[in-house]
Amino acid sequence: MSETKEIYKNLGIDEDVYRLGETICSNLKERFDSIDKIAEYNQLKVLQAMQKAKVSEACLYGTTGYGYNDIGRDTLEEVYANVFHTEAALVRPQITCGTHALALALMSNLRPGDEVLSPVGKPYDTLEEVIGIRPSKGSLAEYGITYSQVDLLSDGSFDYDKIKAAINEKTKLVTIQRSKGYEPRKTLSVEQIGQLIAFIKGICPDIICMVDNCYGEFVETIEPSDVGADMVVGSLIKNPGGGLAPIGGYIAGKKECIENAAYRLTSPGLGKEVGASLGVLPSFFQGLFLAPTVVSSALKGAVFAANMMEHFGFSVIPDGNESRHDIIQAVTFGSKEGVVAFCKGIQAAAPVDSFVVPEPWDMPGYDSQVIMAAGAFVSGSSIELSADGPIKPPYAVYFQGGLTFPHAKFGILKAVQELKNSKVIRL
Ligand SMILES: *Cc1c(COP(=O)(O)O)cnc(C)c1O
Repeated sequence: MSETKEIYKNLGIDEDVYRLGETICSNLKERFDSIDKIAEYNQLKVLQAMQKAKVSEACLYGTTGYGYNDIGRDTLEEVYANVFHTEAALVRPQITCGTHALALALMSNLRPGDEVLSPVGKPYDTLEEVIGIRPSKGSLAEYGITYSQVDLLSDGSFDYDKIKAAINEKTKLVTIQRSKGYEPRKTLSVEQIGQLIAFIKGICPDIICMVDNCYGEFVETIEPSDVGADMVVGSLIKNPGGGLAPIGGYIAGKKECIENAAYRLTSPGLGKEVGASLGVLPSFFQGLFLAPTVVSSALKGAVFAANMMEHFGFSVIPDGNESRHDIIQAVTFGSKEGVVAFCKGIQAAAPVDSFVVPEPWDMPGYDSQVIMAAGAFVSGSSIELSADGPIKPPYAVYFQGGLTFPHAKFGILKAVQELKNSKVIRL
């Protein structure tokens, strides 16, 4: 073990930082065991989904051009449908990111005059422009689709009275964001999402319930589609891509919802029949196969981070003991210096671009400057160890990912080291 200590030292970790990390890690054994149990279940779930869909070697070759009869693409979509227990799925490299997948799910299933309701407060920053909460070209608002929102109650629970009052004859789709995103609220458990969907369907069974599943996949043994969601939507450069998918998004759900999305993604009349997979299928299949254990590594990293940061008195969501429903760890530093130091530490721990220093900058889709730390193999991938924070009060950092736990652990030690070096904390 002294060799391990030595290599930490060579990588810039002081002895006191290393020791604290060891103490905290050794107290988390039981917690990590229960995370491993979930990974074991989900690994088998994915394997079973692949075997059931008869994934063959031929599925790993891609198509070019129109992509007619792309057996790998079609089989992958069947695998996703099997994993999420849905009728169908759309899983494509032509879906450029999570926001695109969500925009696609919304725009293809809504028509002028319809209303979309968010019963869980403000949606993710980039969706504000998709919906038109912030005016934007091509938004749902421009097409005459209205939006209403009911905030969560102060204890994080659903405001059922207001939700009931907000549902009207125009309400066509309800969007439920599982993860907290950049909001300082709690992430919803799949069970809670199920209760909300049951309430909404109880008022009007025809309302489409869509869940923004970003960062939530494989954190629990069930997914929102197991508790009544008509569509679950996410990004392949987050959890389900397992760190290997270089691009892509997915929508899994009811056949009709998926067809609508396919006709919108490609063209009316063409739908799922076109869309060459090029060379990405091996990474999509293998990434999904690895996703359960990659997610478990990221979760352990998040739990470790929460416990480390709590030790220094920073407020963390979720806290060190709470159950987890996504891979995101929020840490509130209360100062720009804290946010910047933390992100610098994460960057310095990266396998790629460890020598660059992140700075806050203006990002498209966000309403304040954002600092992002990511030395990722896949640009912008946040299943890889990464941290980002909008430069605005309460000066919180959102930390996520880690393809392996040892790397996530090292990232946190590096972040603590950086906080120590810049005198934000004292050991
Ligand atoms: C990341 C994320 C999105 C958007 O995904 P991008 O791939 O960044 O476009 C949407 N919602 C939530 C909750 C997310 O975490």
